[in-house]
Amino acid sequence: MKVDFNDFVIVGAGPAGLTAGITAARKGFKAIVLEKGKIAGPKPRGEGFRENSFLRNLLGEHFFDEDCFKMDGGLMFHSPGTLKLAAKPGKKTLCFFEWKTFIRRLEELAEDAGVEIIYNANVLSPVLKNDVCTGVQYKDKDGKIAHVNGNAILACDGYQSTLGSYFDVPYDQLNCPMVKCLADNANIDIAQTPDLQFYFVGNGDLADYPDFPPCVVYGFPLGGQKMELGLMLRMGHAHLMKTVTVPDNKIVMNVWEHLKNNYPEFSDYFKGADIRHEEFTGMSNTAMVSDFVPAKGMVLIGDSAGFIDPFGSSGLYSGMAMADFWVSVLADKMAMVAGGNGLTEPADKLWTDENIAAFKQGFEETSVFKQIKGSYFLIGNFEWYIFKHLRTAARINRWWPVIKLLLKVA
Ligand SMILES: Cc1cc2nc3c(=O)[nH]c(=O)nc-3n(C[C@H](O)[C@H](O)[C@H](O)COP(=O)(O)OP(=O)(O)OC[C@H]3O[C@@H](n4cnc5c(N)ncnc54)[C@H](O)[C@@H]3O)c2cc1C
Repeated sequence: MKVDFNDFVIVGAGPAGLTAGITAARKGFKAIVLEKGKIAGPKPRGEGFRENSFLRNLLGEHFFDEDCFKMDGGLMFHSPGTLKLAAKPGKKTLCFFEWKTFIRRLEELAEDAGVEIIYNANVLSPVLKNDVCTGVQYKDKDGKIAHVNGNAILACDGYQSTLGSYFDVPYDQLNCPMVKCLADNANIDIAQTPDLQFYFVGNGDLADYPDFPPCVVYGFPLGGQKMELGLMLRMGHAHLMKTVTVPDNKIVMNVWEHLKNNYPEFSDYFKGADIRHEEFTGMSNTAMVSDFVPAKGMVLIGDSAGFIDPFGSSGLYSGMAMADFWVSVLADKMAMVAGGNGLTEPADKLWTDENIAAFKQGFEETSVFKQIKGSYFLIGNFEWYIFKHLRTAARINRWWPVIKLLLKVA
């Protein structure tokens, strides 16, 4: 049985976990990342964000200038049936990239900083001593059970977080099912369609699935004939809607096939397209978790914390910024309580109630927290209005002028 000790034990080598490792190691702390896949971020997820100084400083000029496809970030919303439109001009450059290029860049930065990454390490549960989380138990590449210990355990293991689930985080209520699809040779003229396209489907509009939750299909032009296309279910108010049942994966994929083949304008993108990736997935973008610190010693970060901007379902920047914040405050406190060198054993002094309250308060004062909180509030109300109150295609179309105004403000 392998037992090891670290300042930071990070579960998941996605954008949040790798960023956490980079920040920790650059500050001189020992960080280990456990990743269940054979490679970092084995499943492609988000492939675009708005550029900002945090991301540019972290990822470097080369990434932004050579590896990204840039657009002005305008959004176009289509009412049900594509009968009416609402445009939202772009304010900041939007950068698109390939998931594997992005993750490889983060992995390279983590390796350079001295982060230890263990692949094929499937974390099974936290290790608790007197209710303090002091490590994790995982199954290694040979199927053997191993443990790793540390002063701070960061759950960066995504929307179905094993660690969050252990502490009863209700991911069945936080997660929205999605379909992600990448297409080459898509039927798009980028000069005519330069913006990100979002198509609303109300509840009750699908003849074969009248109780399917409200959803949005999207098409993002990625340069030339490449596109990312997908389906996002909006589940925030689904439990309050008598006309909605929560669909299983098979029904979601059936509806996706139907929309791919029939939804006006959206289905045109697929004519002659070569689909190179298409899968059912999910995202925790209904709400943030109620407590980022579910037990002393552990922090939920990124998708495992529902820390996603629900407007556009963007979680890359927010998860990475959250990781950077929490590692920074924990590292500073570790250095302080241990006299500057980090800690060598699980720290009662680090996880006092007073310290936890101060970490949380500091996080709630960050601009990224305020932005995500505001976005959940706004989108929550917006979805309630469109998808619960108006609900059907006919009513959403009738009230489109109001929706158009709201979309402009959002
Ligand atoms: C279809 C789709 C499109 C999206 N588009 C965008 C977009 O355009 N822009 C944007 O900003 N965001 C987008 N997002 C959201 C964004 O991808 C996520 O918010 C982001 O990837 C979250 O990062 P994370 O590190 O928290 O989690 P993840 O990226 O999910 O990484 C979690 C990591 O943990 C590993 N892991 C899981 N369980 C375990 C375990 N038990 N043991 C060890 N390792 C484990 C996983 O293998 C994975 O590597 C999109 C998401 C989806 C699904």
